[in-house]
Amino acid sequence: MTVTALVVLIVVVLAVGLFVFRAIPGVRAYFQFRGKRLITCPENHQTETVEVAAGEAAVGAFLSEPTLRLKECSRWPIKQDCGQECLQQIEIDPANCLVWNIVSKWYEGKSCVFCHKQIGPLHHMDHAPAVLTPENKTEEWRDFRPEQLPEVFATCRPVCWNCHVTESFRRLHPELVTNRELEAKRIR
Ligand SMILES: [Zn+2]
Repeated sequence: MTVTALVVLIVVVLAVGLFVFRAIPGVRAYFQFRGKRLITCPENHQTETVEVAAGEAAVGAFLSEPTLRLKECSRWPIKQDCGQECLQQIEIDPANCLVWNIVSKWYEGKSCVFCHKQIGPLHHMDHAPAVLTPENKTEEWRDFRPEQLPEVFATCRPVCWNCHVTESFRRLHPELVTNRELEAKRIR
């Protein structure tokens, strides 16, 4: 191997090493800041849904430090030129305000109000569990806007996906459902 080839090899190895070294915080920042989050808007003091530009935060972390900027907010486009002061809340505790974590935490250890089976941990690929509203209607948690969830979780009760399907069918097609208890009473 010539001296030139050796120098080129060392430079390439160093460059790859440096790239990997910088890529780690970049990837970490991407996973840390992706996803919808609930914050308290510093202007209207209401719960709002925001999403950080995770790709941009990752590039920032790759180059030096993650730069946080919103790419979505439930108050946009009307308030699109706000100062994005809510980013401070995300910087302080990025995991705690993540919608997915808030939902997981609420279902954790809870049992379905219909079948009393414990609702397992939330998975992205699984059917979403639901809630029973005060109006006795079951709804998947995903059908609500994220900013409605604190209110939903304060007033509703947990329902597993199977019972949600059964109850929805019962509600939408009452003529096709035989209620055994009622039938028994009618027979008597
Ligand atoms: Zn159930």
